[in-house]
Amino acid sequence: MSNLAVSDYFGSMVFDDRVMRAKLSADVYESLRKTIDEGSVLDISVANAVAQAMKDWAVDHGATHFTHWFQPLTGITAEKHDSFISPSPNGSVIMEFSGKELIKGEPDASSFPSGGLRATFEARGYTAWDPTSYAFIKGKTLCIPTAFCSYGGHALDKKTPLLRSMEVLSKQALRILRLFGNDTAKRVVSSVGPEQEYFLVTREMYDKRPDLRFTGRTLFGAKPPKGQELDDHYFGVIKPGVAAFMEDLNNELWKLGILAKTEHNEVAPAQHELAPIYTTTNIATDHNQLTMEIMQKVAARHGLVCLLHEKPFAGVNGSGKHNNWSIATDSGQNLLSPGATPYENAQFLLFLCAVIKAVDDYQDLLRLSVATAGNDHRLGANEAPPAVISMFLGDELSAVLEAIDSDTPYEGTKKTKMKLGVDVLPRFNRDTTDRNRTSPFAFTGNKFEFRMLGSSNSIACANIMLNSAVAESLRIYADRLEKADDFETALHEMIKKTLKDHERIIFNGNGYDDAWIKEATEERGLTNYPTTADCMPHLLDEKNVKMLTSLGVFTIDELHSRRDIMLENYTKSVLIEANTMVSMAKRQIAPAIEAYAADVAKSAAAKKAIVPELACRYESGIISKLSELIDEIEAKTIELEKAVNATGGAKDIIEESAMIRDTVLPVMSELRAPCDKAEQLTARSYWPYPTYADLLFGVR
Ligand code: ADP
Ligand code: MG
Repeated sequence: MSNLAVSDYFGSMVFDDRVMRAKLSADVYESLRKTIDEGSVLDISVANAVAQAMKDWAVDHGATHFTHWFQPLTGITAEKHDSFISPSPNGSVIMEFSGKELIKGEPDASSFPSGGLRATFEARGYTAWDPTSYAFIKGKTLCIPTAFCSYGGHALDKKTPLLRSMEVLSKQALRILRLFGNDTAKRVVSSVGPEQEYFLVTREMYDKRPDLRFTGRTLFGAKPPKGQELDDHYFGVIKPGVAAFMEDLNNELWKLGILAKTEHNEVAPAQHELAPIYTTTNIATDHNQLTMEIMQKVAARHGLVCLLHEKPFAGVNGSGKHNNWSIATDSGQNLLSPGATPYENAQFLLFLCAVIKAVDDYQDLLRLSVATAGNDHRLGANEAPPAVISMFLGDELSAVLEAIDSDTPYEGTKKTKMKLGVDVLPRFNRDTTDRNRTSPFAFTGNKFEFRMLGSSNSIACANIMLNSAVAESLRIYADRLEKADDFETALHEMIKKTLKDHERIIFNGNGYDDAWIKEATEERGLTNYPTTADCMPHLLDEKNVKMLTSLGVFTIDELHSRRDIMLENYTKSVLIEANTMVSMAKRQIAPAIEAYAADVAKSAAAKKAIVPELACRYESGIISKLSELIDEIEAKTIELEKAVNATGGAKDIIEESAMIRDTVLPVMSELRAPCDKAEQLTARSYWPYPTYADLLFGVR
């Protein structure tokens, strides 16, 4: 690859527009384009022609199989490979692929989570081609992005509601644009650039840690002598082993048409980030899933393991995924960008208000869209935005809004009274808007950055909620404005009302400050759901059900199933962690401590045999401390086993998740504490695991 220019192989494994144009007849290309751009129904004859061309192209690129690639509610992607081969009468085989196979698949999907949506008689479910995301080749397989539904028509995946949410957002935003005299826009598209954080550790060390292997995070581990105190890793020089990984990763991503753009070291040692150039929400979601998968594959080739868990190491920064989100027309006008004319500015302010209202009205949905057992460790841990949602707008924009709110002159570059539709907004300096790193939801000049996502989250969930909530604000605005006699006055009033009603969600201060959480919850009445068990049940709150079902993003049954599946994921992951801890503590940690204490005792006895009057204070100190710790470890192990067993008696998943939060997780911390203390007292050679220092500084 080294002597090829990136432009020569970028997208070489993607059946993208260039390939379609080259391989399809003009008629077929036109109809497919119409389906992709405008969502029109695809004719089977067109599908057959596309399938044929896709197969020929894929076979030319070494593919032997195809798969419908989809995103079940497990949060990762799934695929079942079928080969193209079909027997021919003369005993040989031909490579075949029909339009029917392209459009619809029937994976034996009975073991994907459905939260009760799929009765066993309809256990199979089906996948349906999503022509808006290009097919691509991975290894020897042509992957066709698809949605996954039950035969009853219920969505069993993350893509279906995401596509629905994009559709409703487009519909409502177009109503607003028409009111502003835009008759040409055909669609409004939401786009995302997700910044992906991750850790790299060596495979050799990873293999020695059952906690990393089974749960993706360390469940034990004393703080290393050096952590991230010096801030010397952030944007620091990239080590050769990591640089080689990044280069290889970029090549793989580029071949798949993924616009990997920036990469740098993050705050914690061994932590890095990759950001792609933004693209439509749907493709960005597919690409992010692929990116996470390919990161792990490429790491393996370099003798490394890529950790995507939100909190692989206690006491060290966790990993998130910043979701940079904006909405634009099909002709590329960014609706979150302040414009050059007064009219454009009024339109910008209305879209801005729609987002403010959406975030305030549906704080709970945004919070729960990022909730997992892993991400609970991050939110509120003084490194990631808290579990309380607020918005950062920056001083300049806040001052403008305040001036509108109070009908007073805006003290910007020159004193002007802001009359919407008349005055031009000042040009915001991009730099002044992006300095608050502690806000969960920050305006960064022409987009919003939602920072609560965890590194392993699918970005689908957050964007489904964001698109839907903003669509709902726009729907309410459009309903009112379409009926208004005097558009400009109605608009002005509505913006003022939004600011009055929702000013509590705007906070430009330090989101990591404990005083803020107090103010947010006690004075402003913002919601604070620290854990998945706290927030997830609110998916079914009346206002949320009403909004999501009336827009057609989810059915009520889908919401029930999703809540249950998310809570099941939470309880299952914590139970796996608890069981892993018990096993590690009993079978490796306690025996290691015992072995060391016994050897220390032996050495004391040997010394005394030579000099009987020796006190052996050093040895007895170690032995008595370790004995105390080992007693505590044994007691906490038993307690944890009991807490785990007790969850079996829960009457439903809500009660079970509450037990996980209230009894299992706290005992896990209590078991960890004495083990970590013991690690610091036990000789290095006795300890069964690579230490935090080994893991964090092990990659060269
Ligand atoms: P910042 O320095 O503010 O973090 P960057 O330009 O580095 O901004 O972008 C961070 C991420 O935001 C990238 O993935 C980028 O592609 C994405 N991004 C930039 N502009 C937009 C936009 N208008 N809509 C969505 N994402 C965007
Ligand atoms: Mg950023």
